[in-house]
Amino acid sequence: MTRRTILLFLLSLLLIIPPKPAAAQTPTPGSGPIYIVQEGDTLWSIALRFNITVDELIAANPDINPNLLSVGQELVIPGLEGIQGILRTETIALGDTFRGLMRRTQADVDILQRLNHLVSPTELYVGASFIIPERENATPLTPRGVLAPGESLLELAVRAESDPWALTRFNDLEGTWAAIPGDVLYAPASENEGENTVGTLPPVFASAEVGPLPLKQGGTAEIRVRLAQPATLSGLLVDKPLHFFPLQGDTYVALQGVHAMLEPGPYPMRLEATLEDGSTQAFEQMVLVVSGNYPKDPPLIVDPETIDPSVTEPEEELIRSLVEAATPTRWWEDIFASPASLYPEQNCFTSRYGNRRSYNGGPYDRFHTGLDFCGGEGLPITAPAPGIVVFAGPLTVRGNATIIDHGWGVYSGFWHQSEIRVQVGEQVETGQVIGLVGGTGRVTGAHLHWEIWVNGVQVDPMDWLEEKFPHD
Ligand SMILES: [Zn+2]
Repeated sequence: MTRRTILLFLLSLLLIIPPKPAAAQTPTPGSGPIYIVQEGDTLWSIALRFNITVDELIAANPDINPNLLSVGQELVIPGLEGIQGILRTETIALGDTFRGLMRRTQADVDILQRLNHLVSPTELYVGASFIIPERENATPLTPRGVLAPGESLLELAVRAESDPWALTRFNDLEGTWAAIPGDVLYAPASENEGENTVGTLPPVFASAEVGPLPLKQGGTAEIRVRLAQPATLSGLLVDKPLHFFPLQGDTYVALQGVHAMLEPGPYPMRLEATLEDGSTQAFEQMVLVVSGNYPKDPPLIVDPETIDPSVTEPEEELIRSLVEAATPTRWWEDIFASPASLYPEQNCFTSRYGNRRSYNGGPYDRFHTGLDFCGGEGLPITAPAPGIVVFAGPLTVRGNATIIDHGWGVYSGFWHQSEIRVQVGEQVETGQVIGLVGGTGRVTGAHLHWEIWVNGVQVDPMDWLEEKFPHD
């Protein structure tokens, strides 16, 4: 080959290979881990999640259009030296432990702590969003069992259809002696994974879930437990004792309202099963409650008598006592119907649930406990679901009021009526006319106020018009 041909060859190579761009067009491996944009993400929320500024995020991704973030787009996350690959987010479920999460994802403990700004491993709240580095070629692991006190790894291995050496290897144990009671142990999922996959919960719980996550102010939490053996269930969410009812087979459900004014943050949730021999198995974890982002209503001016505690408190107390019991019959089956089903316009509301309220110049320390429908005097009010009438009569603040017990701790309240068309003890059906709209009690005009109580807490009735409880 002559010098000339070599030169030509080199020149032709230059023509084939495109010049390297001055700035990287797409995130390149090696410049930092990559986050894939999810539904609902903004630059601000992503920056906040990774504890960086929006400017730092833009500097690391010079080609992005900050106003046009699309789902699935890849963003380089700066400031995370030593971490590579794809970062994904996962919502912490009931039963997730830090050690368990570490084992399942096979991520390094310090990386998980850095990514999630954890100070302590106990900060794993159910419903919180957790960042996990995705490891390529990692064997997917599933929880195989919780080591019971006095149980050996060999015994657990037999129970979990695994072997103690595999458990030692996949769980980074120094030896078969190094597992401690309460440890959730992981192994690769077997081909014939059956229904009875051992979870991260005590053995009496075949499964346990709480949702929808994250729990929200004013929302209705559904706690669903499947038992591995006969037991009596009890529990606690925030400060409310849970009431479990059989759904089907060995599955039990408790519904619990989350208070509209509850300060967002982590709250305790406890599940306890009392076995037939009298022994108990319990499980406790913190669950995250997020804001309902309820707006402030304009200040309201009302008759001072209707906000006088000597008038309001006995009435509150009466209502509370009426909606306290969780009766075992579930009268309803379907999604709730609108109590305005016979209105000319049934999807019109003058005030939504949760709005912060101030009366006669007082502080915004109250909230709207139900849903106010458009439409006035004389319109027919229909039962949103079957149930038994537990109250029908006049009250100072609520005016002519009716309360229906739907069972399982769920109650409907209808205030300010001009006329009540049902009696205490009467069984009502969905769509039945139970009264007429009026302007009695603390009102500025005739309207229907409808509220729903779930285990002693008023919740957003809109959820009950849009979703079926318990969920299918
Ligand atoms: Zn209202």
